[in-house]
Amino acid sequence: MVPGASIGMNGREISADGRALHVVGAGMAGLAAAVAGVRAGLRVALYEAAGQAGGRCRSFHDATLDRLIDNGNHLIVGANRNVFGYLADIGAPDALSPLDPPRFDFLDAATGGTWTLQPKDGFLPFWLLGREGRVPGGGVGDLIDAGRLAFAGPDATVADCVDTDGPLFERFWQPLSRAVLNTDATEGSAQLLWRMVRKTFARGAAGSRPYLADKGLSAALVEPALAYLGGRGVTAVFNERLRGLRISDARVTGLDFGNRTIGTGNARVVLALPPSEIARLLPDIGVPGETRPIVNLHYRLDGEAVLPGGGAFLGLVGTEAQWIFRRGDILSVTISAATGMAAKPADAVAETIWRELAPILDRPGAPVPPCRVIKEQRATIAQTPAQAALRPGPATGIANLWLAGDWTDTGLPATIDGAIQSGREAVKRALSAGFRAIPD
Ligand SMILES: Cc1cc2nc3c(=O)[nH]c(=O)nc-3n(C[C@H](O)[C@H](O)[C@H](O)COP(=O)(O)OP(=O)(O)OC[C@H]3O[C@@H](n4cnc5c(N)ncnc54)[C@H](O)[C@@H]3O)c2cc1C
Repeated sequence: MVPGASIGMNGREISADGRALHVVGAGMAGLAAAVAGVRAGLRVALYEAAGQAGGRCRSFHDATLDRLIDNGNHLIVGANRNVFGYLADIGAPDALSPLDPPRFDFLDAATGGTWTLQPKDGFLPFWLLGREGRVPGGGVGDLIDAGRLAFAGPDATVADCVDTDGPLFERFWQPLSRAVLNTDATEGSAQLLWRMVRKTFARGAAGSRPYLADKGLSAALVEPALAYLGGRGVTAVFNERLRGLRISDARVTGLDFGNRTIGTGNARVVLALPPSEIARLLPDIGVPGETRPIVNLHYRLDGEAVLPGGGAFLGLVGTEAQWIFRRGDILSVTISAATGMAAKPADAVAETIWRELAPILDRPGAPVPPCRVIKEQRATIAQTPAQAALRPGPATGIANLWLAGDWTDTGLPATIDGAIQSGREAVKRALSAGFRAIPD
């Protein structure tokens, strides 16, 4: 392909000149990059290996349950500014439903004890000490622990900063570390957890408010983006796996999709791919190699699912199941940092977890309902200090190539908010980079 020549794409033309942007990977990072590119006036092409967009954040119709389900429950909080900025950009500002008032219900299956965290306004989370907000056994020590997290060095784990023998460990720090970092507190990065705490709990009720995708992740976060892009002439190309990069003179000159190679000439390229793909395509760039799984189970009950406390979701302590969410007659369970569970057969997982849940749901002895178990083996990178230190920034050392993805060095945990930030940042860097154009 001649540099600067135009290329065919599903009947559309996108030129390889300096106003063209090729985004590979249509997860949240790639979608955010494509949207940012369009908003900046670039001609954008978007390629995705799978048959649908969304990556690790997607919905699909499950034939076993005959329901639309998400690959896994995702929680967004009010402090996730990148998410809300992205939703505003794609014309879907109300796609997520806020929980009003913000609250996090918990149940300790061993003791039957329940408590509710109700974030309130104020810079310091003094509400953690109040009667309504307090975790049983908690007290002033919680704030001291939070202070230790704030000053943790890059090598510190969460467990290095908090009292691992106290009641708060299993009831607060461990669930928080697993939910935010998908990594146990004994190995999770204290700095990464603190950045999230600082942005959420320390921002009071608004920052901590949970938001849910009532109609599914794709309806809230993916389909509006595809509609926005489609309305501006960008059609995502699915089932298109990037096999290799043509690189010459420290510049990407072509994207090799196996059955065709697309010349990139003077165009900009953003790879919004998982780290394992970057390791394959660009072996000189160091990336985090360790991942942690998340196991999600979706049970179809014989009627509307009702949780103890009546909320939309519930945190569990003392069980393998960590969070349960309800949507209509579907009861969904999340198990993060689930290395042990992810290694077990799906039927055994469905049985084990149902035996834990049945008494909690007041259905002791009930047979296991129809269930779909989804094991995301590489749900996120392991967010340990050592792996966090390997996260690269968007620049690659290749003049017209940038990286995006929740696993890149966003300063945030590997979440949707981080993924969106990374996609936008990659495009920002691409626009500000004055790389040398190939002469015609
Ligand atoms: C079960 C589960 C629960 C989670 N819960 C939460 C939560 O509650 N809150 C939260 O904020 N985050 C949560 N996350 C994390 C969140 O889903 C991710 O941070 C986010 O979706 C990552 O987006 P991404 O674009 O960086 O990566 P991905 O979604 O992995 O996107 C990469 C895309 O690239 C495509 N691709 C791969 N190789 C190629 C190739 N060679 N060529 C072309 N395309 C390719 C993939 O198919 C994929 O679509 C959860 C994740 C999981 C799995």
